[in-house]
Amino acid sequence: MLKGKTALVTGSTSGIGLGIAIELAKQGANVLMNGFGDVDGPKAQITEHGVRAEYHGADMSKPAEIGAMMAFAAEKFGGVDILVNNAGIQHTASIRDFPVERWDAIIAINLSSAFHTTRLAIPHMVDKNWGRIINIASVHGLVASKDKSAYVAAKHGIVGLTKVTALELATTGVTANAICPGWVLTPLVQKQIDARAEKDKISIEQATRELLSEKEPSQQFTTPEQLGAMAVFFCSDAAANVRGQAWANDGGWTAQ
Ligand code: NAD
Repeated sequence: MLKGKTALVTGSTSGIGLGIAIELAKQGANVLMNGFGDVDGPKAQITEHGVRAEYHGADMSKPAEIGAMMAFAAEKFGGVDILVNNAGIQHTASIRDFPVERWDAIIAINLSSAFHTTRLAIPHMVDKNWGRIINIASVHGLVASKDKSAYVAAKHGIVGLTKVTALELATTGVTANAICPGWVLTPLVQKQIDARAEKDKISIEQATRELLSEKEPSQQFTTPEQLGAMAVFFCSDAAANVRGQAWANDGGWTAQ
């Protein structure tokens, strides 16, 4: 379905981004990977589906590096057709104790980076009259939890950015939508489980059960594969007129 298209997935060396990159590759899309840590292992999981993968290590908190990554995409692939803004970090603390430097980093990586990639991706997509912008928000783009001020602000912000992007492009073949996952068992969440186990002096298994039962009625994690399938749907013709939506995949979290 996506043969000949190029997908840029930010933060695709791990977790949800890697899961989405693999599902897009299964549909034939070439992938420009980004993120920190091991590249070769994740890259092999993408190229085994017979597509081309390249990597750019732009730090998503740095607009100049994002610009360099978009130029690299144009040089290697002729441009980005599918943009998945996924890179993200978390820090938990009450507002009065929240480190200012962590606030700035979360806003830069989880929100401003999507503005930069989007503004730089739009001209090519509009020229082709086809494009898909998929922002990985969170249930925290729809509702809040305490001790996550920067993350909740950034995720509500990216839902707003998604709506504006969709409206500005509404008469073109370019759509913008957001995916709002509940808990997904990735390194980002494992850190929160480990911190809970240590703070409450309980096992990792019990901390995992408590984390899920506190917010997620299904008591099950959403998987990167399931989120990848949602991204594939947003890329399909069936979703050509789905614009500016923020769709949850959250085990019932936001139904409460
Ligand atoms: P993860 O930690 O497994 O992956 C994050 C990815 O972002 C990694 O590839 C990492 O290298 C990359 N990254 C981090 N900082 C970066 C930077 N400055 N520049 C470039 N890349 C950077 O986390 P994940 O759980 O897969 O999270 C992916 C996205 O999904 C995030 O936006 C997160 O907020 C969102 N999300 C996660 C969950 C969850 O439960 N895991 C739920 C809802 C939303």
